[in-house]
Parts: sequence; C-alpha cells; structure tokens
Amino acid sequence: MEIYPLPSRIGALIVVSGPSGVGKDTVLQGLYARTEGVIQSVSATTRERRIAEENGVDYHFLTPQQFEDDVTSGRFLEYARYGKDMYGTPREPVERWRNQGLDVTLKIEVVGAFQVKEREPNARLLFIAPPSLEELERRLRARGTENEERIAQRLLRAEEEMACIDKYDYILVNDQVETAVRELRSIVIAERHRVVPK
Ligand code: 5GP
Repeated sequence: MEIYPLPSRIGALIVVSGPSGVGKDTVLQGLYARTEGVIQSVSATTRERRIAEENGVDYHFLTPQQFEDDVTSGRFLEYARYGKDMYGTPREPVERWRNQGLDVTLKIEVVGAFQVKEREPNARLLFIAPPSLEELERRLRARGTENEERIAQRLLRAEEEMACIDKYDYILVNDQVETAVRELRSIVIAERHRVVPK
C-alpha cells in the first residue's frame, strides 16, 4: 500500500479539459473521493461568482485589475480568456504541492492547457469529451447555470475545443460517469508511476 504524500518524487501534473457541461466536475469529484494524494488547483477568474460557489474554494474571484496585476507579476502558470472572462492557474501552490509529492489536477480550457504543456513538458493533457454535441447541449441546459446567450457561446466554444483533441495525450468519453471515473483513476495511477524521482 502506498502512503501519500511521497516527498521523494515530484507529483504528476494532469491537465483536464473538456467542453462546458461535459461533466468534468463530477468525474473529478469521483477521482478525488477514491484516490489519495491528488489535489485540485484552485484557479483565479474574473467571472461572476455563481450562487453555490465559494471564494477560495471553487475559484479565487478577482477583479479585472487584480487579475491583470497577477499576470504582470508572473503569478500564473497559464492564463486564458474564456468568453468575456479571464481564468488563470496560480503557479506557487502547484509547485509547492508537486514538490511535496502530491499529484495536481488542473481543470482548464484548451488554450491554457497548451501553455502548460509548453512550460511543463512532463504534464499530461487529458480531454473529457461528450458522447455527442446534442448530449452536451442537453447537459448544459439541465445544469441551469447559464442563460441562452452563454449557452450558445459555450456550445460554439465546445466545437472549437473538440477540434483540438488530437493534441491531447488522453481522450476520455464521459458516457457513463462511473466508467469515466475508473478510466481517469487508472490514468492518474499510471502517471504517478511514470513521473521521474526528484
Ligand atoms: P466555468 O466558468 O464554467 O467555471 O469555466 C469556464 C471554462 O474555463 C472551463 O472550460 C474551465 O475548465 C476553464 N477554466 C477554469 N479555470 C481555468 C484556468 O485557471 N485556466 C484556464 N485556462 N481555464 C480555466
């Protein structure tokens, strides 16, 4: 049995992308519930907080000026625009956790994912795809967090993101959540054993 964290190795960096509404959160929650030693990075964003979201837990909610200042002082490992909002991954916690031997997941869109791969060639990119675009639209509406304009924007962006999947290391179709969680878990475990020791 393995005990985590393992300070003798640098934790894996797993980047998870996938269109809005595909079920990234559900699949990732399933992973965390069953896998010790994996930590989710908390991104910064200028987007408005949704009712169920907590500052510092779901996101660090920043003003555009605060976000810009963080960009200028190099605090982001990557950042990108999504719709009219900015999103970015704070660099320091990711480095700290990986140096402690913890595996880190980033749940980010494709532009940011490719920035991470460029800066951290050891990172692994994983794309969660919907069974079809029709099913994605159904899930996005069922979630009820977005208005019609945003749903339309997100579906358009989904098509653009799906066009990038051949640049990803792994593709996982979220048809059955249980199967997707099991597949994601085996990928994380495989990555954990691939990462070179410090
Ligand atoms: P949402 O507004 O639905 O929470 O997120 C919108 C999109 O932004 C999703 O695809 C999500 O994965 C992505 N995202 C969240 N955090 C980050 C981040 O730190 N960097 C980048 N590049 N994308 C992010």
